[in-house]
Amino acid sequence: MGKIQEREENLSEVVLDKFREECGVFGIYGHPEAARLTYLGLYALQHRGQESCGIVASDGSDLRLERAMGHVAEAFDGSRLDRLPGASAIGHVRYSTAGEVSIREAQPFLVTCQHGQIAVCHNGNLPFAREERRKLERQGAIFSATSDTEVVLHGVARSQASSVREAIPEVLRKTEGAFSMLFLTANELIAARDPRGFRPLALGRLGDAWVLASETCAFDLIDAKYVRDVEPGEMIVVDEEGLRSSHPLPVEKHSMCLFEHVYFARPDSLIYGHSVNESRHKMGKRLAIEQPADADIVVPVPDSGTAASIGYSAQSGISFRFGLVRNHYVGRTFIEPKQSIRSFGVRIKLNPVRDLIEGRRVVLIDDSIVRGTTSKKIVRMVREAGAEEVHVRISCPPTISPCYYGIDTPNKADLIAARMSVEEIRKFIEADSLGYLSLEGMIEATGISPDSACVACWNEKYPTRITREAETMWEREHEPVT
Ligand code: SF4
Repeated sequence: MGKIQEREENLSEVVLDKFREECGVFGIYGHPEAARLTYLGLYALQHRGQESCGIVASDGSDLRLERAMGHVAEAFDGSRLDRLPGASAIGHVRYSTAGEVSIREAQPFLVTCQHGQIAVCHNGNLPFAREERRKLERQGAIFSATSDTEVVLHGVARSQASSVREAIPEVLRKTEGAFSMLFLTANELIAARDPRGFRPLALGRLGDAWVLASETCAFDLIDAKYVRDVEPGEMIVVDEEGLRSSHPLPVEKHSMCLFEHVYFARPDSLIYGHSVNESRHKMGKRLAIEQPADADIVVPVPDSGTAASIGYSAQSGISFRFGLVRNHYVGRTFIEPKQSIRSFGVRIKLNPVRDLIEGRRVVLIDDSIVRGTTSKKIVRMVREAGAEEVHVRISCPPTISPCYYGIDTPNKADLIAARMSVEEIRKFIEADSLGYLSLEGMIEATGISPDSACVACWNEKYPTRITREAETMWEREHEPVT
């Protein structure tokens, strides 16, 4: 492997050593600038997916679609948005878990069928859709992409129901998995959230227009007001007669993803009606009580460790300092000088402030450790900047199991906490001490009832059955070592 290739790989490690959200959705009904506001909504949701984006708009009779690879700001310009006239629109930003990386996979998907034109975009994962897809393919069905979302569209297209709004619940009742979905037809916007409510979906108001988004930060940018969350199992239809809500999906115990509060969502969002910033602050305070450290400064691993660090500092009385500075403009590839620089891969993204760190005992706060490789490089870098001691504190419990509900996670074998004890991880990342927040502490900090939360990646108690492939992998990984 050549030098440049080697360094490219290191950088992706730096960028990727986190669980990753795959998608963000945004929709609007009843505004003359629907496509432009959707563009802004997606802009605010960009952190939920950077691989591709797309918008479908309806002018009341025709649906038009524009999709592109890359970031929203680069993919859309004024003339592209001018090709999307109409008062209703839905949009999507995507980072894939299921499906390939290509423009064919970019959402929204738009089809024409017996019910007319229908577009859909989806945040979540439908693990059993692959079985249904294989069945449909054997029957001669044609798919344009590998994504599981298309299976739902096929179901709607084939439904004998008299309208799209009747066909959607008919199909979703048979669909297992995590979905916060938006559908657009020529004259209606339909939102549906799975009965367990795995992924968030918020409802807002902008004048007379209704808006829907994965996170409320998308409302703030366009001056829309948060009204409430779409409830788990709820379907909302918005058309010229207004908004109607129904609960056509079977009632299930709620399983709202708590990782949204730990890491995925923006801190300025409300998720499940609770402030993400507040949750992270409380996680930090609780972490200081559960995992105290004898130290001089609290330093966040930017950006997601910041709110928890402020909480840790407030509780412990140890002063909070921005001891690591993040470069926000890191791409996926770079070229290193031929003479190797130590910690180059991680330093291109984070750089220590030597003046703050030198001679000090540092508490380094991060939101999670996935593979552990990046944490090790950061600890080394802080030590090289002169820290006397480095104490790592994590604002959630050890992540020990993959997610099957729309989050990109490595296999169990690659999760360091699935293989090692806390003490072994401490040694691996070369920290002087390591402490995680307890499960109870984390749940309590979010203010969400433990009976309504999914915490499966921390305790392996999956709220649904998982696919046969996943089960086999799970069983193999849990085989007793003889
Ligand atoms: S398994 Fe973890 S990441 Fe996946 S939905 Fe549950 S809490 Fe969220």
